[in-house]
Amino acid sequence: MKTVYLDNNATTKVAPEVLNDIMPYFHDLYGNPSSAHTFGGQVGKEINKAREQLGDLLGASPEEIIFTSCGSESDNTAIMSALSTETGKTNIVTTRVEHPAVKALCGHLTKIGYSVTEIPVDREGRLDMERYRESLTPETAIVSMMWANNETGVIFPIEEAAQMAKERDILFHTDAVQAVGKIPINLKNSAIDMLSLSGHKLHAPKGVGALFIKKGTKFSPFLIGGHQEKNRRGGTENTTGIIGLGKACELAAKNIDVENTKVKELRDKLEKNILSIVPNSRVNGGEAERLPNTSNISFEFIEGEAILLHMDEFGICASSGSACTSGSLQPSHVLRAMGVPFTMAHGSIRFSLSIYNSEEEIDFVIEKVPPIIEKLRSFSPFWKKEAHA
Ligand code: PLP
Repeated sequence: MKTVYLDNNATTKVAPEVLNDIMPYFHDLYGNPSSAHTFGGQVGKEINKAREQLGDLLGASPEEIIFTSCGSESDNTAIMSALSTETGKTNIVTTRVEHPAVKALCGHLTKIGYSVTEIPVDREGRLDMERYRESLTPETAIVSMMWANNETGVIFPIEEAAQMAKERDILFHTDAVQAVGKIPINLKNSAIDMLSLSGHKLHAPKGVGALFIKKGTKFSPFLIGGHQEKNRRGGTENTTGIIGLGKACELAAKNIDVENTKVKELRDKLEKNILSIVPNSRVNGGEAERLPNTSNISFEFIEGEAILLHMDEFGICASSGSACTSGSLQPSHVLRAMGVPFTMAHGSIRFSLSIYNSEEEIDFVIEKVPPIIEKLRSFSPFWKKEAHA
């Protein structure tokens, strides 16, 4: 059975060009970049090339980039660094819809004496800028706000938010894990102090990420060890991951146009058709500015998990907005923060596309999904009630 992979916000396939470039560094060129000999040194050169490739994509200089193990590490590093350098300040401003890499860390920090202010969003997932403005206080050590939401794709006005923090001398970090490679980013004259990204979201391997730290920003390392990354992140480098991330960034710079034309067209086609065929369905965040590849659709009166299982039988991969891992089948905190009604939030599916998806695949999904919804609704007592209302 063919796999139709529409779960690219969870992870992406490694680009063939990336795979090709990194293979020699697993066997022939396995030196340690910190070694004094030429054999290791040549790997060090490739790491610096990757730093330049990241800088080119982000409009940053190579010295402003440090490599990490993932987006979560980058997020943790940025926030913990601010709490260490901004002595005496004990407040973190963030949003209600962050990824657990920020949200769970903030939850942990509240238990050890820090205060966290979570800015609400509206029904479309847009940030309440007035509340944000009011929340910035002299006690605020850092603002940590995602650039684009992983579940809905909703984009926050990051530059405006960063500017407001800068005017008050507050550090500003953005989790741009879902934004990098999908929308243009230019940090050259930006007010952003730190930015996180993750390799496996943009066709590089898993286990590598990066943190942009604006020149002149006070910084305290999170992983303390050797002298790697100019003492900013200890630990022997994930050489293949880093070299792959560099290449993936080079490709992403070229493919941003494809993301915003072909990928967006396919996403829009999927949405338009599903919504017109399936009654009581809705795009979450559909009125807001969104990533070109993401569509979060709620199907009222049925369970997202059940939809996923049925799609899986046709090889269609997506994600649901409810997490049954806790056993409670709670809808996601993102949809709850948006005030999506319970009956809608439970039946939400996130489709996330990439440049590797084809129109045939989208047509296949448009053909298969509506009958699945109809079948599941035929078992739903809530749907029967609605149909007879
Ligand atoms: N931030 C966002 C917005 C994400 O979507 C993710 C991953 O889904 C992360 C952070 C964590 O990235 P990683 O899996 O590289 O730790």
